Amino acid sequence: MRIGVDIDGVICDSYPLWLQELNRHYQKNITAITDYEMHLLFDVPWDDMNDFFVKNVETLLGLPQPVKGAKEGIESLIREGNEIIYITARTPEERKVTLSWFRKHEIPFEHVLFTGFKSKVDLVKQWDMKVFVEDYMKNARAIAMAGVPVLLLDASYNREEAAAGVTRCRNWEEILAGIRGLK
Ligand SMILES: [Mg+2]
Repeated sequence: MRIGVDIDGVICDSYPLWLQELNRHYQKNITAITDYEMHLLFDVPWDDMNDFFVKNVETLLGLPQPVKGAKEGIESLIREGNEIIYITARTPEERKVTLSWFRKHEIPFEHVLFTGFKSKVDLVKQWDMKVFVEDYMKNARAIAMAGVPVLLLDASYNREEAAAGVTRCRNWEEILAGIRGLK
């Protein structure tokens, strides 16, 4: 089965590090990520925060730890004969640092698609993915609306009621169970 997988918040535990670095940069002390849109959380213009990300890409995309259970989960899925395609909203310019991170943490990858903040729906359809693993409710809803079931990894910023076709998972064990249940 071909499985689509998001990176930030699903494979790469980016948000704790981003929160720490953004607090330092903007001299704030925000403790909970209640909004997926970090510029709204910090109440700064999107461009300004994007600029900070571009200038500090090696730190912000290079240093996060993997999400607990993600590496083992991906390895199990591949071992069971599934194909993993990563789709991230990261930009194509971030390919090098992203792939280095996968290698550093020995997380298997073959196809990594970079949308550069654009919708993931077209790629999910184009690649004929059977399920998608995501943490951003807006993406999850859009993909589910296009007819592809979504497993949503629970996070402080996605506690809205899950839409039809979106199943909330508390951890990678539940993601694996959800995928196995589709067969
Ligand atoms: Mg994500």
